[in-house]
Amino acid sequence: MNTVLDTVVIGGGAMGSAAAWALSRRGRHVTLVEQFGPGHKIGASHGTTRNLNPGYHRPEYVAILAEGLALWDELEQESGEQLLARTGVVNHGPEPRFTDVAAALNEAGIRAEFLSPAEAGERWRGIRFDQQVLHMPDGGQLNPDAALPAFQRLAAARGADIRHHTKVVDFQVMNDGVRLVLESAAGTEAVTAAQAVVTAGGWTEKLLGGAFAGYALAGGGAGLRIPQLRVTQEQPAHFRIADEGAVWPGFNHYPGAGAEYRNWYSPVYGMHTPGEGIKAGWHGVGPVTDPDRRSFLPEPVQLAALQDYARTWLPGVDPDAFETISCTYTTTPDEDFVLDRIGPVVIGAGFSGHGFKFTPVIGRMLADLATGTRPAPQIFRAGR
Ligand SMILES: Cc1cc2nc3c(=O)[nH]c(=O)nc-3n(C[C@H](O)[C@H](O)[C@H](O)COP(=O)(O)OP(=O)(O)OC[C@H]3O[C@@H](n4cnc5c(N)ncnc54)[C@H](O)[C@@H]3O)c2cc1C
Repeated sequence: MNTVLDTVVIGGGAMGSAAAWALSRRGRHVTLVEQFGPGHKIGASHGTTRNLNPGYHRPEYVAILAEGLALWDELEQESGEQLLARTGVVNHGPEPRFTDVAAALNEAGIRAEFLSPAEAGERWRGIRFDQQVLHMPDGGQLNPDAALPAFQRLAAARGADIRHHTKVVDFQVMNDGVRLVLESAAGTEAVTAAQAVVTAGGWTEKLLGGAFAGYALAGGGAGLRIPQLRVTQEQPAHFRIADEGAVWPGFNHYPGAGAEYRNWYSPVYGMHTPGEGIKAGWHGVGPVTDPDRRSFLPEPVQLAALQDYARTWLPGVDPDAFETISCTYTTTPDEDFVLDRIGPVVIGAGFSGHGFKFTPVIGRMLADLATGTRPAPQIFRAGR
């Protein structure tokens, strides 16, 4: 028996949920399939905090940042949920691009101001500030565990079919649509659909590998060449708060060349997660992993270096009391996203550890691609 569908969204993480929301708002009949259950912790979109760090200077990102701030507001009103804690974000360290960031943000109407380390230290005594401090009051923390169900609930209210515990085990792209085989507790189901939106996170290459064999590009050639995707297992940690009176913004600390940055793996990002502590983590340097064969265990040397970081730069926490988190990044070589379409397939992938803040805009961009409204900016195109 073959089921015929309109638009299938593959993957119920942040980006698939936002695509279902954006497409259902345009009257598309969407079926979202997700291999795991609601709130699963096996991909990249779980937990109660992600930084909405406005620290961008490239025009394409500043534009979607501004749109994102408006769309998160809209989603909060539509869902009746608070999704963004407006704590502000502070980026610090000897980072030469801060001046460009401040100029680009202020021009876009997003607030950015420089503070002295002493001023910043007075306001946020849990953090030891380093040289330059860029404060962005419009930033804060987003809550994935509230946002994903909100997107899905609003999409379902507009007729979308949200199917958890349903895995795509075969995916074939044809010139007239796509063919899928779904596996769930109900058994195996053959499906054809006019269109598919692939938002499969760390599983993207597995799903797309061989999928275009039956698809012929106009003028010859087959398939979509997307940038190589590196899937890593990332391991931030929640440190116990030692200074209960301290106020916490989101923060990002960029290293310089000096000896004090010797044991660093990358810039450090962090934020307060209510009820769990202060999250801090290295960015995009975890071990390469197969999303179906993960250890979920922290790499001990990186973890020890993270504790050292907390000991030196986060006086407001106990560096020896922490819980580690395990999560995946799917990173492109240039760390820009992949947002593109070929024939009946739209792809959203490679969010490179910085996609969550843009989620509702990514949903809008994927819906634009699916409806042929407008292409994504060049920097996000697959063949760039
Ligand atoms: C530790 C960590 C910290 C981060 N911090 C920030 C931050 O502070 N700010 C920020 O902006 N971003 C941050 N990010 C990045 C952000 O969380 C991600 O960019 C975003 O969540 C990616 O969402 P996604 O939907 O692409 O991936 P995922 O959430 O992984 O979703 C993909 C989904 O597809 C499903 N799937 C895959 N294959 C199949 C199949 N065959 N059948 C059915 N379902 C399938 C998977 O089960 C999964 O649920 C962070 C990420 C991590 C890991």
